[in-house]
Amino acid sequence: MKKLYYIDFPQENLENQMHNYRCAYCKVETTTINGNLEGHLPSCEYRIKLENAGYDVISNDLSETLALHDADDFD
Ligand SMILES: [Zn+2]
Repeated sequence: MKKLYYIDFPQENLENQMHNYRCAYCKVETTTINGNLEGHLPSCEYRIKLENAGYDVISNDLSETLALHDADDFD
């Protein structure tokens, strides 16, 4: 399960920087997060919540390419 952009996290304004925002949980700037779940710290409450909800962190999931073996050569 995957979202195109992860932007529904609580944000707060950076001090003295009117146009810059950061995640209210992990304090990473939105320009660094860039809409990616992995942009948040692993300890981020928002990231943990979405991971627990089944959302993927990174798309290159190599486990899906595991070869499937059938039982034809079973002796
Ligand atoms: Zn965060």
